Amino acid sequence: MAIVAINLTTGSLQQEEIIVGIDLGTTNSLVAYVHPETHQPAAINDLGRGTIVPSVVHFPAGGADPLVGSAAYDFLLSDPQHTIYSVKRLLGKSYRDLGQHAGQLGYKVIDDNAEGLVKVRVDDRFYSPIELSAAILRELRARAEHALKTPVNRAVITVPAYFNDSQRQATRDAGRLAGLEVLRIVNEPTAAALAYGIGLDPDEEKTVAVYDLGGGTFDISILRIQQGIFEVLSTNGDTYLGGDDLDRAVLEHWTTAFGLPAAFGISPHLRQQLRLAAEMAKKYLSQHDDFTTHLTDEAGHNTTVTLTRAQFNDLIRPLVARTIAACRQAVQDAGLSSDSATLATQLDAVLLVGGSTRVPLVHEAVSAFFGQTANSSLNPDEVVALGAAIQADILAGNRRDVLLLDVTPLTLGIETLGGLMDPIIPRNSKIPTKAGRQYTTSLDGQVNLKIGVYQGERDLVSQNRKLGEFTLTGIPAMPAGLPKVDVNFLLNADGILQVEAIELRSNTRQRVDIKPQYGLTDDQVEQMLMDSLLNAKDDVAARLLIEARTAAEQLLYQVESFTRKNRAHLTETELTATAEQVAQVRTALTGTERDPILKAMNELDELTRPYAERVMNISIQQAMAGRKIG
Ligand code: ADP
Ligand code: MG
Repeated sequence: MAIVAINLTTGSLQQEEIIVGIDLGTTNSLVAYVHPETHQPAAINDLGRGTIVPSVVHFPAGGADPLVGSAAYDFLLSDPQHTIYSVKRLLGKSYRDLGQHAGQLGYKVIDDNAEGLVKVRVDDRFYSPIELSAAILRELRARAEHALKTPVNRAVITVPAYFNDSQRQATRDAGRLAGLEVLRIVNEPTAAALAYGIGLDPDEEKTVAVYDLGGGTFDISILRIQQGIFEVLSTNGDTYLGGDDLDRAVLEHWTTAFGLPAAFGISPHLRQQLRLAAEMAKKYLSQHDDFTTHLTDEAGHNTTVTLTRAQFNDLIRPLVARTIAACRQAVQDAGLSSDSATLATQLDAVLLVGGSTRVPLVHEAVSAFFGQTANSSLNPDEVVALGAAIQADILAGNRRDVLLLDVTPLTLGIETLGGLMDPIIPRNSKIPTKAGRQYTTSLDGQVNLKIGVYQGERDLVSQNRKLGEFTLTGIPAMPAGLPKVDVNFLLNADGILQVEAIELRSNTRQRVDIKPQYGLTDDQVEQMLMDSLLNAKDDVAARLLIEARTAAEQLLYQVESFTRKNRAHLTETELTATAEQVAQVRTALTGTERDPILKAMNELDELTRPYAERVMNISIQQAMAGRKIG
């Protein structure tokens, strides 16, 4: 299924690889690709095992290769200590991040270092969530290679929109560990929108809501798509609410309503039987009105349990209501109306994602809240993987008409004299992007230049977030203002920033990689933007004061070095007058008013300018007389 192309310049055949799209889910994972001839995305169904691969890894006794998917799922109850599920919840997290949830998993999470990234213990071996995710990715890769009959080395992987940089980096590392070059990490709601064809036309402008109810998590995202740029206006949700909770509601109802023998609660085997029956009932009721099954306990007692769709709806209504409350918050945060009729006109589409959106009550509640029929025309299990495949196809260069970009949420810049923020890449710039600016030294003979990199909208770096700092060393000693230092920012498609500083005369250079999003939640980004708006006026005043101070300090520096070098050409009176005016400027600098500083500076400048001109003339005359100066 490889694509064959002919290189027109060399006439040789080129094998073009397929780039796959992967939905690495908490409960289920899938791999998809775009068919090279039909250009249609499709989820891979290897050996007729279905497209869904449960995100479960089982380590068999004796150290054999881990099992992944349905084969591992079967061990969840019989061998929980060797069977790892929901590993996505641990990706890129420290034990402290997990908090109370650490104890709720069936396997052991290591807590010896609250700050470090968590590990999972299986017997006497330790696995990082990255390694465990890599095991799932390796299985998906193998299935894709087997089904497509071609090597698969490159992929696009999706993550929730709220994933921070640490979690994104961990996902990328997992891909690398599985032997995949991860070309792009894409937000799940963005992928879902792409699968629905939204954002493929650069001329269209759309605002959409993506409601994603999976096995254990719920996410609502509001996206704005403009010129192929996907902007996350808001996200909300509950990382502990999903299909599993619907199953649990059914299970609890049955236990009381049918007075199930205690054995069902005690024996792991029977409890699993009950849990599976509850999930089966839930899925069945997505299409039918009544469900009936027979359960047998260890003593051989038969119990018939039933559930109608109406009963099921009553059981899950509070859970569905919680998702709607999160939707309301997301809509509000995105600056949209919470009135259904108005909201309907503000949103171009409401997309349903995740297996649990097959529940009719979910569909109804979401449609009612948003004032429009939610779109579920694509398979909700597959839609994220299909979108990832489309993104992969775009990156492979197969859709040259489409340019897919993300934007950087906060301004990136460096600290300049006086602690001011000098923006280099403004917020909302499309990424990847590149920008640079030239700087110089402020002191004579300065050989080092400290570059502090900041993120934020405030004028003062002290109120922005420091991302990193490095020192450009080895600048040849030159008078202040003469070295030319280019500072270049390169923000790649994953939001990783590379900062490079080059002194152009000597070609001295230094480079660092910085992760701007590290540890910043969407809320914090929002807060930083709000702060900059609220404090804009104060910030301008502060900036003007600092600029005046910096200019005054530069002037003092120049005047002092001038008088030191040219003492011989100045009269005693001139030296005294200069010293007095320098003192005036210093006094003004102790205050917090800008005007006295500017005034004192002006006076100093006017006083000394004639001296400087005279000295310059003397120098010129001396030079013309053929004598050396200095
Ligand atoms: P995740 O994205 O969290 O990995 P999925 O989107 O694959 O999860 O959703 C899995 C959940 O969807 C499970 O709880 C499963 O029971 C539920 N589910 C799948 N099919 C149906 C259905 N027909 N009706 C109701 N729930 C379903
Ligand atoms: Mg999902």
